[in-house]
Amino acid sequence: MLSIQFLGAAGTVTGSKHLVRFDGERELLVDCGLFQGPKQWREKNWEALPVPAPNLEWVALTHAHLDHCGWLPRLAESGFRGPAYCSSGTAELARILLPDSGHLQEEDAEHANYKGFSKHDPALPLYTEEQAIASLALLREAPFNQAVELQSGITCRFIRAGHILGSSFIELRAAGRVVLFTGDMGRPHSETGGPSAPPDTDYLLLESTYGNRLHPAQDPHPQLARIITQTARRGGSVVIPAFAVERTQKLIFLLKELMEEGAMPRIPVYSDSPMAIQAMKIFLRHQDEFDEETRGLIRKHGSPLDWDGFHFAAKREESVQINRSRVPIVIVSSSGMASGGRVLHHLAQRLPDPRNTVVFVGFQAEGTRGALLQAGRPTVKIHGLEVPVRAKIETLGQFSDHADYQEIMAWLKGFARPPRRTFIVHGEPSAAQAMGDRVARELGWDVHVAQYLERIELT
Ligand SMILES: [Zn+2]
Repeated sequence: MLSIQFLGAAGTVTGSKHLVRFDGERELLVDCGLFQGPKQWREKNWEALPVPAPNLEWVALTHAHLDHCGWLPRLAESGFRGPAYCSSGTAELARILLPDSGHLQEEDAEHANYKGFSKHDPALPLYTEEQAIASLALLREAPFNQAVELQSGITCRFIRAGHILGSSFIELRAAGRVVLFTGDMGRPHSETGGPSAPPDTDYLLLESTYGNRLHPAQDPHPQLARIITQTARRGGSVVIPAFAVERTQKLIFLLKELMEEGAMPRIPVYSDSPMAIQAMKIFLRHQDEFDEETRGLIRKHGSPLDWDGFHFAAKREESVQINRSRVPIVIVSSSGMASGGRVLHHLAQRLPDPRNTVVFVGFQAEGTRGALLQAGRPTVKIHGLEVPVRAKIETLGQFSDHADYQEIMAWLKGFARPPRRTFIVHGEPSAAQAMGDRVARELGWDVHVAQYLERIELT
């Protein structure tokens, strides 16, 4: 007996949590993600799981994005005693991302209390930095491609997904069945070498973030250079909301290339994140996960921590200093969907000035400030205040870490035989439906779009 229940990333992109029950008693949670974006989903971060956390046997994490691992501290606080398996890259990133997430939640709660804009009195963090640090002891590193035995007859295997550093598909073998969880899937020809070919699978859980969208085909480099050049000529600055690991590192290398080619002016670049320095070090340490081109860039340019004109703001005072700059600069700061973090301070300050530009390089989940800005809202609420949006808003979809539907379809064609059933997860409802319809129509597979809290027997 094997069943699966969708506790997140069903009906929405975030909050990835797939509960697998073996023989009705033992339980594995694949991914332990935070809900982000619309409030009705975020509020679920405060709810308990349908199974008592101490009864949960194992967690397995596909990657370090917070919508896949950011709920682990909360699960640990509720009594989960581990282990939580993941790749070594995921563990390294989680060791900086989870404490940072706790820290940011404390900062946001403090800020809310100070300004008095929270409906809750006092506003509390979902978890603290200290609780996040405590949860790290549960992480257990698993090598790529080797089955890890959870118990006799149940194994997990981590297979490179090419999405971000450390990202994996998880192949679960139990009760004579194989279940494959894609987590998030990278693009072919990405810096991480793209997703691995699919193994033979009975049940597939397929992500659908870009289930109804394609990435632009044109080279993004000249576009980025043009945006930055024009903004600097107006005397404005460029704010790039970006996840603090991975995409930030790529952008930093790219900006250096563009400056050296003379494609854009040499203006100061700030990577503003409390973990900017650590994240860069992890990125440089895991070069084995990147393709030859990226490794070549690292060989050519060395460590950005030593570059002139590039600044890594780890401390809050340094971040405040950036806010005071009146000359054109580029600020790369998280969170990537402008749902929290230091980028909010930069946006609050730079959005009202029409000389500035905000450039989105990653997926913006429905309801996030990032999505509202992309939709052209005249104001956005930041820290309880309506901030007028006069800055230019630009999007460069080519930098996405997610495969689009065409790239997913090409990957699916690599299956030697169709899975018995494919469950579509991790997409807005319209994207998930479109992906499911396409797979059923073009491949003739048995497809089901997962619903929140729905439980399915894998017979
Ligand atoms: Zn991800």
